[in-house]
Amino acid sequence: MLTVDAHSHLGSCRVFDSDQRAGDLLAAMDRHGVHVSVVQPFPGAPDPAAVHDMIGQLARDEPGRIFGMASLSPHQDAGAYRAEVERCVRELGFVGVKAHALGHAINPRSRDARLIFQTAADLGIPVMVHTGHGVPFAEPVMWLPLAREFAETTVILGHAGAPMFTGPAIVAGEVAENIVLETSWCSPHDIGRAIKSLGPERVLFGSDLHFNPGVELAKYHAIGLAEDVLRLTLGENALRVFSIGSPVQA
Ligand SMILES: [Zn+2]
Repeated sequence: MLTVDAHSHLGSCRVFDSDQRAGDLLAAMDRHGVHVSVVQPFPGAPDPAAVHDMIGQLARDEPGRIFGMASLSPHQDAGAYRAEVERCVRELGFVGVKAHALGHAINPRSRDARLIFQTAADLGIPVMVHTGHGVPFAEPVMWLPLAREFAETTVILGHAGAPMFTGPAIVAGEVAENIVLETSWCSPHDIGRAIKSLGPERVLFGSDLHFNPGVELAKYHAIGLAEDVLRLTLGENALRVFSIGSPVQA
């Protein structure tokens, strides 16, 4: 079964004091049967553009296996922000952009939050929003106005509000059909509730950190999902959301 990790990181992180190396990421994918990973810099990367280049290189080295997601602070000159995201998409082939509500301190009601959504809409890519830790900015419902304004843009609620705000994340999904939930750090119970409430097409497997894919996959297998639901949530939904047409073969 094709397995796509919708949420993974590369490089170092001054905000959460962590580090993820390409070798560790690829080894974890092999160990846990993850065929494709969508990879982004951490917030607090000392040089996000350099990490974008590193991810772009890894994607060229591992065709069909690694796809990039841009992540940088929007609290800068709007033109410079847009230029870097556009470079990632047009030159490096990236498939999404991240709004890190906590790590980049993004108020969902701010013009800089809007800049991210406008940039994504102009480039035709989905936005992943960090939700959960870091309220009020990371409270899922706070992102509803932007999700509704940019109704043509797919909005991925990263971590689906875990651990405290999975309920609001599901409510946000019920209100805005362009919202999908990525479930790293969610409880198995909440993953099951999200699938039941929103349908199996709108829930995505993600790991966040390289030691975590096995744990996250075990949750999906633990809740007794039907084979066709597993196929969607573990792989096919991510291919659709990120418009990945040429993954490696499972
Ligand atoms: Zn993350």
